[in-house]
Amino acid sequence: MNDSPIWHPFTQHGLGEPVPQVLRAEGAVLHTADGRRIVDAISSWWVTTHGHCHPAIMAAIRTCAEQLDQIIFAGWTHAPAEAVAAGLRALMPPALTRVFFSDSGSTSVEVALKMALGYWLHRGEPRDRIMVMEHSYHGDTIGAMSVGARGVFNRAYAPLLFDVATIPFPAAGAEQATLDALEKHCRTAPAALIVEPLVLGAGGMLIYPPWVLAEMRRICSHHGVLFIADEVMTGWGRTGTLLACEQAGVVPDILCLSKGLTGGAVPLAVTMAIEPIYAAHYASDRARMFFHSSSYTANPIACAAAAANIAIWREEPVRERVAALGLRQAARLEALTSIPGVHNPRILGTIAAVELGSGEGAYLSALGPRLLDFFRARDVLLRPLGNTVYVMPPYCIDDADLDTIYEAIAAAAESLF
Ligand SMILES: *Cc1c(COP(=O)(O)O)cnc(C)c1O
Repeated sequence: MNDSPIWHPFTQHGLGEPVPQVLRAEGAVLHTADGRRIVDAISSWWVTTHGHCHPAIMAAIRTCAEQLDQIIFAGWTHAPAEAVAAGLRALMPPALTRVFFSDSGSTSVEVALKMALGYWLHRGEPRDRIMVMEHSYHGDTIGAMSVGARGVFNRAYAPLLFDVATIPFPAAGAEQATLDALEKHCRTAPAALIVEPLVLGAGGMLIYPPWVLAEMRRICSHHGVLFIADEVMTGWGRTGTLLACEQAGVVPDILCLSKGLTGGAVPLAVTMAIEPIYAAHYASDRARMFFHSSSYTANPIACAAAAANIAIWREEPVRERVAALGLRQAARLEALTSIPGVHNPRILGTIAAVELGSGEGAYLSALGPRLLDFFRARDVLLRPLGNTVYVMPPYCIDDADLDTIYEAIAAAAESLF
C-alpha cells in the first residue's frame, strides 16, 4: 500500500490506512479494484450532483475532446465557454452579468477577492479589509486560507496569511451578536464580506437561518460593502434550491461556483460579478484590466461538461429530485435520533448531519479515524468531520443505497458508544 509515490491530500500516510483503488463509478456507486461496491455518501467530496458518469455529461466531454482540447482564453473564445456563460446568465440572478472562469473553488475565491479589491482601487477609494465568518472554509490556497478559519489545517502557514475581520457564527439564539459585529466592522469601510450561505461545510455542516443571511446582505448593502457568496459547496441544489442565497431572497455582488458546475465530472469554476465591478475595470487603460489567469482558464472540455450540466438543470426535474431526496433523508435522519449517542441532527436540502458521542467536535477528534475505518469496512464512503457525520449523496441515489448509509451510521452509533 505504501509503495506508491503518491502523496494524497488530507491524508496522514504515517497511519498506514488503506488507499483503495477505484476502477469505475456510476450513479451513487464506486467499484474498487478489489471487487467492492462502495456507496458514495458524500458525492466524492461534495462535487457529484446528478450522479457519477451522467451519460449527457460524458457524451459532451467525448464530443468536445474529439474537436477542441485546449485554447488560450486571453483574447480568444470558444463555443463551450460561450454556452456556459449564456446558460449561467439565464439560470443565475440577472444582476450577476459577468462570468470569469477559473479551475477550482479556491481559485474562484481568489478571483472574487481580487475583483473586490480591484473594484475599490479603480473607483479611487482603495479598500483592502475582508470580513469573514467564524468557522468558515473557502479553500486551501493562501488567499482562500486567509479568509477561512485558522486552526490545525493552516497553523504552519499562518505567517503567509493576511489579516481579516471576523464576525461570530450566528448560533441559534446568538444571531444578533453576528449582525452587531458585522455592523461595527462595516463602519470601518471594509472591501467585502465573504460567506458560505446557510451552511458552513468544512466547518462542520453548521446551519444558520435564511433571515440571518438576508440581514447580513442588508447591512452590507446599507454600508456599500461588497457581498461575496461562496456557493462552491451550496450551489447546484445542495441546500434544496439552485443557490442557497435564493432561500433568503439574496443576490450577492460576487458569486463563487465550482463543485457541481460540471456535475462534478471535471474541474472548473466561475466567479460571477455584478456589472459595476466589471465596469470599474473597463477602460482604455491597460493597467486597469483584471490581472488574473491560469493556463487552463475555461478549458473547452470542462466547459462542455458544464454546459451539459446546465442543460440537465434546464431539461431534467432536478429541483423535484433534490426536494424528494431531502424528504427521503429527513425520514431516515429522524429514525437515527432515537439512538443514544446521536446528537444535534440537522438537515438542509440534501445535506444531513449528526454528531456522534459526547466528545467535542474538533477535526482531529480520536473518533474520526475509528469512524472512517468503521464505514470503510461497511463499504460506505463517509468522511466524518471530527465526530460530525454528514450525508451528502448524489441526487440519483436509490432507497436501498440510502438505507445502507443510514444503517451504517446507526450501527456506528450503537457499537461505538
Ligand atoms: C470545497 C470548497 C472550496 C474550495 O474548492 P476547491 O475546488 O476544493 O478548491 C471553497 N469554498 C467552499 C465553501 C468549499 O466547500
